Amino acid sequence: MLRYPGWLLGYLWWLLKGCYAVARVFLVDARVLLGVAVKIPTVSFSASEQNTTALKEFDQLLRRVFPKIFSSSLVQHEMVGNYSHLLTVPGSEPDLEPYMLLAHIDVVPADEADGWDAPPFSAQELNGFIYGRGTIDNKQSVMGILQALEYLLEQGYTPRRSFYIGLGHDEEISGPQGAVNIVKLLKSRGVKLLYVLDEGLTIMDGVVDGLIGPGALIGVSEKGQATVKLSVSTPPGHSSMPPRESSIGILASAVTRLEKNRMPNLFGHGPERATFEHLAHKFGWPYRMVMSNLWLFSSLVLEGQPDTNAFVRTTTAVTMFNSGVKINVMPAYAEAFVNFRIHSSQTLQEVLKLIKSTISDERVKVEFVSGFDPLPISSYDEDTFGYQIIKKTVHDIFPEVTVSPGICVGNTDSRHYTELSPDIYRFAPSWYKPGDSARFHGVNERISIQNYEEIVLFYFQLMQNSDIRNLPGPRT
Ligand SMILES: [Zn+2]
Repeated sequence: MLRYPGWLLGYLWWLLKGCYAVARVFLVDARVLLGVAVKIPTVSFSASEQNTTALKEFDQLLRRVFPKIFSSSLVQHEMVGNYSHLLTVPGSEPDLEPYMLLAHIDVVPADEADGWDAPPFSAQELNGFIYGRGTIDNKQSVMGILQALEYLLEQGYTPRRSFYIGLGHDEEISGPQGAVNIVKLLKSRGVKLLYVLDEGLTIMDGVVDGLIGPGALIGVSEKGQATVKLSVSTPPGHSSMPPRESSIGILASAVTRLEKNRMPNLFGHGPERATFEHLAHKFGWPYRMVMSNLWLFSSLVLEGQPDTNAFVRTTTAVTMFNSGVKINVMPAYAEAFVNFRIHSSQTLQEVLKLIKSTISDERVKVEFVSGFDPLPISSYDEDTFGYQIIKKTVHDIFPEVTVSPGICVGNTDSRHYTELSPDIYRFAPSWYKPGDSARFHGVNERISIQNYEEIVLFYFQLMQNSDIRNLPGPRT
């Protein structure tokens, strides 16, 4: 029988106890830290109104709970646009191109009266979940990234490859002060980034019919947007002698035409095809056959559900409709706003042309309000450093998860970073299960305590995985 010397057993026991203590402190702290972050209501109410008191308080919180980051001689910290944070962590090998991690501090409004199980800024724990606005969008990433860095600094870690962390304070209102100014600053310094990782897609589990096991979608592009204003003006009059068509009626017909004549199905023309091809082998019969032949079945499979329909076409959403002042007066004016999310293979100009030809009524004035083209498609092949490192990190933390490229149907701060890097990815490892779609910007936003711990570990691992010179193995 093998005999181990007492000192070796003693050493192993000490090591084990040490690891356990570190793991406990590290992860017990995690939920507490996310909780205090969620309790500060950093709400963006509108393009012109933000809770700046909360944003200041949030800055103080970060300095208090991450003492290593804010006192380290290694890490440079700058405030940008008053409330956004830019951290620079210089590596020991300056010839290695840096990467950048993004997250945002601000949140959308939340009202407990809408039916929350726990007050939205309470960070109350219920059945293993932390409830609160920002738990999945996006304070889990803010705190996860910083906690991972704090922990690395505690261990005396110095990276070889430099990296940046950008924490925007106005992402929910398009990032005009935060992300835009961080990009300006980095551009003025001549910074080029190997890759950028922002929030966006998640780990889908049980939400795609037929998909066996969870799938992590790494967003390689974002849809574009177009918002148009439709208006109709008619002579006013008394409701006792109405014209055959009212301004409301004319506008309603135009809106109905837009809803009925959806934008074309463009499946196969954008990265959504790669998503399903990468996942095809994880579908059970008969879905596997369908998924492997999506060119044939795309309209059948993908157009039925709102979330998968959004992948295959430019979507049409009528979001506002205003008209009328009095019950017996024919309204002289009616207006509606329609928001389109543009598919990767279409341009803003093409969509605007299609809107006009679909409405095809001169009485309806169509005005362009705002918009932009879809974002460029980042590479996701075997040789792409950023994509492969993110994929490897997902597998390190979640071995059972299949990784695939995807399209982000919403927009993030990362869309401002296109001049700094061709490879921008949108992903945070939050679990997205049936019913969760209603939690984003909705009621009962929450994260499981275990998932938050996984997120901290993900960023902790990502920082270390990114710290290699080249991707390992023979590259063809
Ligand atoms: Zn967000």
